[in-house]
Amino acid sequence: MEKTGIVYECLKCGSPVSSEELELRGGETKCTVCGYRILKKVKPPVVKRLKAR
Ligand SMILES: [Zn+2]
Repeated sequence: MEKTGIVYECLKCGSPVSSEELELRGGETKCTVCGYRILKKVKPPVVKRLKAR
């Protein structure tokens, strides 16, 4: 399973934190900007393709 593409958002400062960044820091669930420990999982932005006709 791929872990890439999961993005968390800090509930305190709202900074996006990727799961890759968390792993680089030893797997600690912690905001990389302010250090707050509560992050919510958000979906990465999906680029919608408009069908050209
Ligand atoms: Zn933060």
